[in-house]
Amino acid sequence: MALLDRAIVRLLPAVPKPVVRRISERYIAGEELVDACRTVKRANETGKLATIDVLGEEITRPDEARAIACEYEDVFTTIERQGLDSNVSVKLTGLGLKLGHEPCRENLELVVRRAAESANFVRIDMEDSSCTNDTLRLYRDVRAGGRENVGVVLQAALRRTVGDVEALSDLQPNVRLCKGIYVEPPGVAFQGFDEVRENYVRALDRLLGAGCYVGIATHDEWLVREALRLLKRHGRDREEYEFQMLLGVRESMGDALVRRGHRLRIYVPYGRQWYAYSMRRLQENPKIAGYIASDTVSRFLPGRNGRSS
Ligand SMILES: Cc1cc2nc3c(=O)[nH]c(=O)nc-3n(C[C@H](O)[C@H](O)[C@H](O)COP(=O)(O)OP(=O)(O)OC[C@H]3O[C@@H](n4cnc5c(N)ncnc54)[C@H](O)[C@@H]3O)c2cc1C
Repeated sequence: MALLDRAIVRLLPAVPKPVVRRISERYIAGEELVDACRTVKRANETGKLATIDVLGEEITRPDEARAIACEYEDVFTTIERQGLDSNVSVKLTGLGLKLGHEPCRENLELVVRRAAESANFVRIDMEDSSCTNDTLRLYRDVRAGGRENVGVVLQAALRRTVGDVEALSDLQPNVRLCKGIYVEPPGVAFQGFDEVRENYVRALDRLLGAGCYVGIATHDEWLVREALRLLKRHGRDREEYEFQMLLGVRESMGDALVRRGHRLRIYVPYGRQWYAYSMRRLQENPKIAGYIASDTVSRFLPGRNGRSS
């Protein structure tokens, strides 16, 4: 399967852009904020929350990072004006992480401050392992500045994650827990599917035990069942956690969680950089290409509906 996934990724540059656009439509709200708002409104109408992500490509200049921070200011203004139930997710490389700690901290603080003015919340996405220390340090800096309306992401694939849960415990962090999308070396990350699942359960157990609000971000049915079991064991009320899923992925599973009264937040990315973003994500993790290919094929097979997978 891994071979097939890699073959799909190698073929990608030859796929005409309009075809990639058609396929990515399902996972990316569109190019403009108005597209994201339309998607969020639809999610809200079906009882789901959202988190909006402004897609940014590799930032090479401080003014590009500042422009992304300013775009988030527009996002909050629009969320407020339209009465949408959505927070935002930011990638620190988009806010200048690779340009230095200070410029990135300034941009992050700008976004978090603007969020606070709207009583809203900022989730800091986690990127590849070269960013983990800097991301956690910036999270700590912002919290030290008195901001509570900010949360971070931890990746179950990383060997360090349970240690990070413990190291952050003094902050009682609001954490999105995911498997981790980046392909990492064996010294840094568990390579086995089951090992990652086990570490996810371990980290979730610790987070719940520490009284943290957790965004349980997964489409893995087995993990959702384990999470429900842990939530019950820790006696968690419905407003003390949420499930999170990516736009367009396993929607019927999300609908079932909502019907059972759980909070579900949908990750809604938008931006003019959708093509570069999609290509980069697929090249970084060929497994995703495999998921999308099988989902796309299944939608065209009689009697199957990819949206219900
Ligand atoms: C809300 C949210 C936010 C995330 N934020 C981050 C982050 O900040 N940093 C980070 O490293 N990773 C992030 N991820 C990605 C995450 O780490 C995983 O790579 C991804 O969710 C797949 O893992 P899984 O738990 O769904 O399990 P898997 O076993 O990988 O997937 C279960 C099934 O879900 C479907 N599926 C999963 N992902 C996709 C996809 N992309 N496209 C189509 N079908 C798919 C497939 O049918 C698959 O069989 C996020 C995920 C979610 C849901």
